[in-house]
Amino acid sequence: MALGRVLYKPRWCVGAVPTLKIYFKELSIKTARRKELVDITYEVEKAVAESGVANGLCLVFAPHATAAVIANEHERGLMNDILRKFAEEFPDDGAWEHNRIDDNAAAHLASAFVGSARIFPVKDGRIVRGTWQNIFLVELDGPRASRRVVIEVIGE
Ligand code: ZN
Repeated sequence: MALGRVLYKPRWCVGAVPTLKIYFKELSIKTARRKELVDITYEVEKAVAESGVANGLCLVFAPHATAAVIANEHERGLMNDILRKFAEEFPDDGAWEHNRIDDNAAAHLASAFVGSARIFPVKDGRIVRGTWQNIFLVELDGPRASRRVVIEVIGE
């Protein structure tokens, strides 16, 4: 039974020690609405190109409790659907305990359940992603003058 396909031999099999590269970049993104999807695919691909990493992994992480990172299609209707689904699951006016001290429990909840990071394979110097998988920062409690997105590329 074939479980997978090896695309290239691990270097430890041939005795060579690969040079590990670690590239770290932080984006600052201004958001314009309370909730919105900001397409950062171009910035992430640019960072991977700058990193010089041919094969490895790319982490895209938003260091925020009220934002998230997703990979999906950049189609306006779907982007609205995603925001609508967040609003249905986590309504702003829900009876959330956190709203007693802050007014953004819905944003925290959506961030917690969706996740603040995504990891992509990097192969031959390019991110591996589906044709309909653009990378988005999800603003859940905007607008903000600056949302940070950390991109870390690790590999050889
Ligand atoms: Zn809060």
